[in-house]
Formats: sequence, structure tokens, C-alpha cells
Amino acid sequence: MVFDVIIVGGSFAGQAAALQLARARRRVLLVDAERPRNRFARSSHGFLGQDGQPPAAIIATAVRQLAAYPTVTRLAGEAVAAFADEQGFRVSFADGRQESGRRLILATGVRDKLPELPGLAPRWGISVLHCPYCHGYELDQRPLGVLASGESAMHQALLVPDWGPTTLFTQGTFTPTPEQRAALQSRDVAVEHTPVVELLGAGPALDAVRLSDGRSIPISGLFLAPRTVAASDLAEQLGCAFKDGPTGPLIEVDAMQATSVAGVFAAGDAASPMANASLAAAAGVMAAVGSHRSLIHGDDG
Ligand SMILES: Cc1cc2nc3c(=O)[nH]c(=O)nc-3n(C[C@H](O)[C@H](O)[C@H](O)COP(=O)(O)OP(=O)(O)OC[C@H]3O[C@@H](n4cnc5c(N)ncnc54)[C@H](O)[C@@H]3O)c2cc1C
Repeated sequence: MVFDVIIVGGSFAGQAAALQLARARRRVLLVDAERPRNRFARSSHGFLGQDGQPPAAIIATAVRQLAAYPTVTRLAGEAVAAFADEQGFRVSFADGRQESGRRLILATGVRDKLPELPGLAPRWGISVLHCPYCHGYELDQRPLGVLASGESAMHQALLVPDWGPTTLFTQGTFTPTPEQRAALQSRDVAVEHTPVVELLGAGPALDAVRLSDGRSIPISGLFLAPRTVAASDLAEQLGCAFKDGPTGPLIEVDAMQATSVAGVFAAGDAASPMANASLAAAAGVMAAVGSHRSLIHGDDG
């Protein structure tokens, strides 16, 4: 069988796309390797109607609801290769299986490359965080830190004080200009240039960071913007254009989530500078609408 749309990635973006196409009674194959970016967090916040739910519970509900639609096939596994052919696209899976689809939606997400600091990785998603909107509220206005990996940390440093008194740890990656210092001061942000060398406390909670000169600074949450890499190389294999995002390369898409390769759409963190489940789901909806329209109006529609 040739599917109308093969969706690679079955988390917020992929499931949202699948749901729209299912409701148009289109034949959809949804394949998911089941490693969503937020799997390290105990709860997910800010997703309307699901605030505070464990990430896996939100996805499980979506999987259950999607299963009610007979035109959707869900496959647990990994898509390892994809190329264009006369049917549209041929996708190969890690178990050797191959499937064809007329359109392709890449909802494959990104991977975070965390800084190598003792005590940091085990706290990721609990007390070491990427986004104050997602997890800042639960830190109860306690002292917080921002760990810089460059000048872009200014953005987080100016934002985070709404969630608690903030220290910016520059980690030797940049020195604020007088204007930046004034902006930090106006938000009461303390600036610490001595590098953080270790995270302290009964993990995954955080009590303090230890600096290279032996001092420790008490904080309950540490925000950072890790470098990101694509979780899958399918977009690269297909020849999709990329652009520079704030933390790593992003698949380039237009307003309908179409990539530079005809018939290939991308949605979610793989194609968005904002790591947010609601925005990923919204982009998934748009990719579904875009791919559906192209099935109707395209040459092979
Ligand atoms: C620690 C942490 C906590 C977060 N907390 C929140 C929060 O509270 N609220 C919020 O709004 N946002 C939160 N986010 C951001 C949120 O996780 C992302 O914005 C969201 O997960 C993006 O959804 P996505 O569908 O694009 O990608 P993902 O959720 O990362 O899902 C991509 C899926 O594609 C699959 N996949 C990848 N490649 C392949 C392949 N080749 N074959 C098959 N499957 C593949 C992966 O296994 C995965 O299941 C958090 C992020 C992190 C890192």
C-alpha cells in the first residue's frame, strides 16, 4: 500500500499532524522511536488542558485517541533512510521494512548536547532546565542561575528574574558590555565570572553550584540553552535546506511547514527555534494541512 502521508516522529508535532490527517480519512503511517526531547522531565507544563501531566501520559492519551481512527497505522521503530521515488517517497526502517508515502512529514525533533559538568546531566529536566515558562513556576521564587554558553545567555538572564533572584554564570564564554551590565543590573541579576565546576545537592534536586575557586553559590534551579542537533538525519538525506537556529541547525520551512524539497514537510523542534510542546503541536497541525492541500492540489493529487 502507498500511504498518503508518512509521518516520522510521533510526539507532540507528529501526533498532532496525524490527528488532522486521520480526520480527513487519509491513510497515514506514523512511525516513532519513542525518545521525545522532554522525556527527562517528571511533568510537562503550559500545554492547555494537560498542565502538570507527565510527558509520557500526554503522549499515551494522544496515542489512544489516534488509535480510534482506522486509516492510521502506528509503528514503533526508527526510520533510517528516505528517498524520493515515482510514488513519492520510500522510507526504510531499522527492522528492514520499507514503506511508501506520497508525502512525508518530519517531526523528528532535536537532541540536546549538555555541557559536561559533574552533576548536570542527572538533573536535566528536574532542576537543570531549558525554559522558565515550562518549569520556572515550580521553583517557587528561590535563587536561580543561568549558565552561559555564549552571549545569547543574556536573553535567559534578563528573563529568568521573573521566576526568582538570578545569578548569571558567564563560564568564561563572554564578558557583558557596559550596556549589557546596565541591563542586567536593572533586572537585579548578579554576574559571576568564576566558572561553575560542579552541581551540588541530593540530586536530582539542586542546592548550589561549586565554583573553580572553591566557593559555592546556593541556587535551586539552573537554566541553560544547550546546543542542539537534529535527532534524525532524514532531512539531510532528502536534501532539505537548513538554516541556523539559536542553538543549532533547523530545517527550513515556509508558513505551511513545507521544506525546500517538494512533498516533504517538517514540524516541531526540528524546524522551530522555540522548544515548546504547544508550538510543536501547532506546527504539526499546519504540516498536516499543508501536506493535505498538496495532496489535493499537487500534480499527483
Ligand atoms: C527537559 C525538557 C523539558 C521540557 N518541558 C517542557 C514543558 O514542560 N512544556 C513545554 O511546552 N515544552 C517542554 N519542553 C520542550 C518540548 O519537549 C519540545 O518542544 C517538544 O517535545 C517538541 O516536540 P516534537 O514533536 O517536535 O519533538 P519530540 O518531542 O522531541 O519528539 C520527536 C519524536 O521523533 C522520534 N524520532 C526522531 N527520529 C526518528 C526516526 N528517524 N524514526 C522514528 N522516530 C524518530 C523521537 O524518538 C521522538 O519520539 C521540554 C524540553 C526539555 C528538553
